[in-house]
Amino acid sequence: MAILEIITHPDPRLYKVSNKVTDFSYVCSNLVPDVYETMISADGIGIAATQVGINQSFFVIDLQGPTDVCMVFINPIITKLSEAKSTMLEGCLSLPGVEANIERPSSVHVTFFDCSEIKYTLEADGLLSKCIQHETDHLLGITMHNYTIGIED
Ligand code: ZN
Repeated sequence: MAILEIITHPDPRLYKVSNKVTDFSYVCSNLVPDVYETMISADGIGIAATQVGINQSFFVIDLQGPTDVCMVFINPIITKLSEAKSTMLEGCLSLPGVEANIERPSSVHVTFFDCSEIKYTLEADGLLSKCIQHETDHLLGITMHNYTIGIED
């Protein structure tokens, strides 16, 4: 495994839409382990492939609680957002030093594939919901910077 360079704003690669993963075997053997290792070494709880300059639609999340395991979300699609919204203080490995209160829907339904190409639907709330929304944004070329224009420079 290798630790990759995390790209930061305003690198234009952060603002591109990712391609769908088609070669699961290559992505899961060669890219997912490095992206995970990079996240852990940077003390992150989530990272999208976009953030290391890989234009493939996947992210990993590890909330690093006692019972949390690393989850890989491949080709994720958010299918439902709650009407209820809540605000959480967010940071981003690609926006070093920036923290902002971001209002988002409180809960989310997401479909995604794992490395065995099995499709899942997950309903999440709390921190996991916010992480899923934040990382899915990255795959769509959206960062927290898009939410904080007018607040941050
Ligand atoms: Zn981020």
